[in-house]
Amino acid sequence: MEKIASFQIDHTRLKPGLYVSRRDQFGGTVLTTFDLRFKEPNKEPVIDMPALHTIEHLGATFLRNHETWKKRVVYFGPMGCRTGCYLILEGTLDSKDALPLVTEMLAWMAAFEGAIPGAAPAECGNWQEQNLNMAKWEAARYGLVLKNPAEDRLNYPS
Ligand SMILES: [Zn+2]
Repeated sequence: MEKIASFQIDHTRLKPGLYVSRRDQFGGTVLTTFDLRFKEPNKEPVIDMPALHTIEHLGATFLRNHETWKKRVVYFGPMGCRTGCYLILEGTLDSKDALPLVTEMLAWMAAFEGAIPGAAPAECGNWQEQNLNMAKWEAARYGLVLKNPAEDRLNYPS
């Protein structure tokens, strides 16, 4: 089998940042997949599983309610390696197009108070595995990475 595109990125040189992972065309529609890389791969601890689960619940809720973007949100979810998340948006987009949305999402997450959306047995397959405080901490930390990011935080190492 061929090596898929996301395995061809040199993870030993990848920094935390916001990257375009791929663009896929389906008929007249292009979907852009973003790599929201919270952690430096293989060099720092990954996101705690309960925190990552909470990031997924909060992020999906925020994105699918966003006035400007909600109709263009295809998917948001965690990477299996737990160093970040994928976000898929409709359109031919660059990192800078998604940066304001992702930054707004992280600020909202970092300030979130109250019941985690969807964290109930009827709504989630593992509803008790959540960590709101760590999710907020991770969102705040990644938010700092994306504050005035240099180009190497927006473009994969070539
Ligand atoms: Zn869940």
